[in-house]
Parts: sequence; structure tokens; C-alpha cells
Amino acid sequence: MFHTATWKDVKEGLVTDIYFERTKKILEAKGVDLHVRAEFVAHVLRSNWSWAVFAGVEECAEVLEDLPVDVRMMREGTIFGTKQPVMELSGKYLDFGQYETALLGLICQASGIATMAARCKKAAGKKEVISFGTRRMHPTIAPLIERNAYIGGCDGVSAGLGAKLIEREPVGTMPHALILIMGDTVKATRAFDEVIEPTVRRVSLIDTFNDEKIEAVNVAGELGERLYAVRLDTPRSRRGDFLEIMREVRWELDLRGYKEVKLFLSGGIDERDIERYNELADAYGIGTTISNAPVVDFSMDIIEVDGRAVAKRGKMSGRKRVFRCKECFKTRVCPLTEMPGRCSCGGTEEELLVPFFSKGHLEQSLPKPSQIREFVSQQLSKVEL
Ligand SMILES: [Zn+2]
Repeated sequence: MFHTATWKDVKEGLVTDIYFERTKKILEAKGVDLHVRAEFVAHVLRSNWSWAVFAGVEECAEVLEDLPVDVRMMREGTIFGTKQPVMELSGKYLDFGQYETALLGLICQASGIATMAARCKKAAGKKEVISFGTRRMHPTIAPLIERNAYIGGCDGVSAGLGAKLIEREPVGTMPHALILIMGDTVKATRAFDEVIEPTVRRVSLIDTFNDEKIEAVNVAGELGERLYAVRLDTPRSRRGDFLEIMREVRWELDLRGYKEVKLFLSGGIDERDIERYNELADAYGIGTTISNAPVVDFSMDIIEVDGRAVAKRGKMSGRKRVFRCKECFKTRVCPLTEMPGRCSCGGTEEELLVPFFSKGHLEQSLPKPSQIREFVSQQLSKVEL
């Protein structure tokens, strides 16, 4: 048995903090069954992020389905900031209070991963970013990592089940294991070329035994134009100036006519590294940076009880709308009574919190991962790293 909860456990409220269970018990014993509205909002973001990508909506829908609650929510993939509610639940507290732990967990982690993927893609621009990090996390959540890495901006993912979820083929190069067992980089690359179907890109790993530029020239000589890229996963202890190593490899390949062979980087790379390496690198395999991304610290705040606006200290009471200018992306949070208008730039505002669930039934169909990714990509041009 894995040490993970099943979908049924979550749906039955078994992964709930005990104090919510006790609250339910007390309210039931005292006959207090009030209508409550609560919003999910991030009051701060980690790592000096000035924005984040909202994700985890599809799994929230699984939890919310058939609950007698109304839900307003931002579209999955919406870029949001602090103090901007992403979701609002309305209903009897006893019907949804026990799901606070699960709902938070679903959006906090998914949004963190999607945000980090978006940051890496923003830094990489047109260069490819592949998610390589499932190995750093529990295998049962590999598909979750891959999906959110993809919708955030990754161009591909490495593990099978995650790739299936996003309706793409998994992407990979070759591991050091193949080269170590075959005993030679050129031999291993030749074997890959002979055995693996021709539709798979030939990417040779060139840091195992010898200097990167020597191996790059060797494998390019062996495969010629069938070689798509060389991958540099150079160990930290050998790295020195990674940019200089890349520059040498590029020079030696170009000098011999292998200008089309791309440079694929991996090994502990984050979005700041990408900014630095992007002049020479053509593609990145990003692992832990994305799979172990900081979570977005959403909280569920009660904003209305029995029709009265109320909130704890430090939080704004009452229902809210979030308006965003379609032109300049300026975003404002205001009371529910306000209507969208014209931004100071002249652009029109749109409402971000839209009806999502009505009495346990979806108000709209859920978008495909590729559509969410496209939506994130459009917004990324409007924000800074
Ligand atoms: Zn504007």
C-alpha cells in the first residue's frame, strides 16, 4: 500500500484537519446550520513572486460535484495576484466546511507547479522547456505534476501517465545508465539510433565520460543530420562556467557544419539560469525547480455568515468581484455591487470570478489542458518575471 489517500477518502472527507471535524460536530450538536460564503485567496506569494497561475480547478470540480453549494471561480490558468479571490463557495457550512483541507491542497500545489512552469517558459521564450521532475516527488502524483507543468507552459513532459493526461506523447532523451552500461557515448548513441523508432528525436547525452565538446563532435559525426540535439547535464563539480562550456560546444559543432544540432540543458536549472543561458541553449529539461515548486499559500476565508458580511481581523468581509482590464491587465477587487467599467487606459474590464458550480452542477464545460496552456501563454506576455 502506498501512503496516499484515495479519491474516495478525499470525497468522504477523511483527509480533513480534525478541528474542522470537531467544528462540524459542535455545530450539529447545537443545531447551528447557517448559510456561509467563503473565498479562497492568497494574501502573500512565496519567493517574491508578483503573480501566480491558478490551477487545480478540474480536481476541485471532482470534490465539489453533487455538493449543494454554489461556486464562483476564476478560469483555470488565470494569472492572479495577492488579495484577489480565485474561488468563492456559498452554501450551508455543514455541507462544505469539511472539504477546506482538501480543496486548499488541490489548488495550492497545482498553482505552485503551474506558476513555476510559467516562469521557466517566460524566461525561455520560444526555446523548449520539458518537465523532467516527477522523480523528485511521490510517483502517485506524477500525472498531477506533469499536467500542471504543461498548462503552466512546459512544451512537453517526460512520464507516460502524465503525458496521457495532457494528450501528448512523452518526451525524453537518454539516461546516463544507457551510456554507462554500453560503455561508450558514441556506441550508446548509435544503438539508440538503431533501435528506437525514427519519429523519436535523437538527443545524445554528452557529459558521461569525456569533455562535452569532444563527445558532441563525436556523436554528430556518427549520426550526422539525424542528430537533433546534444544534452549537457554536466555535474555541478565540473561545471565551472556553464555558458563557456556551451559556447565551446556550439563553436566546435558549427565549425564542422553541424549548425542544426541543438543544445539541450538539464541539471538543477531554474528560471534565472534560463535567463542567463538562453542566448546559447535551445531547450531545457527542468526537474526539481518545477516539481518541487513553492506552493501558493491560499487560505479559505469566511466573508459572510447568514447574509451578514463578516471576516476575521486582517481580511476584507463581503462578496467581491475581480475586474481586469483586457488591454493593460490592471486588476481591481471591489464589492459585488460594482459593475465593470472602463480602465484609465481606455480598455474595457472583464470579470474574472465567474459562476462555476450551481447546486453541485457544472455551469460550464472544462477546457482541455492544451486550451488552458494557450490561455496562460497569452497572459504571460503581460507580466514580468
Ligand atoms: Zn487598462
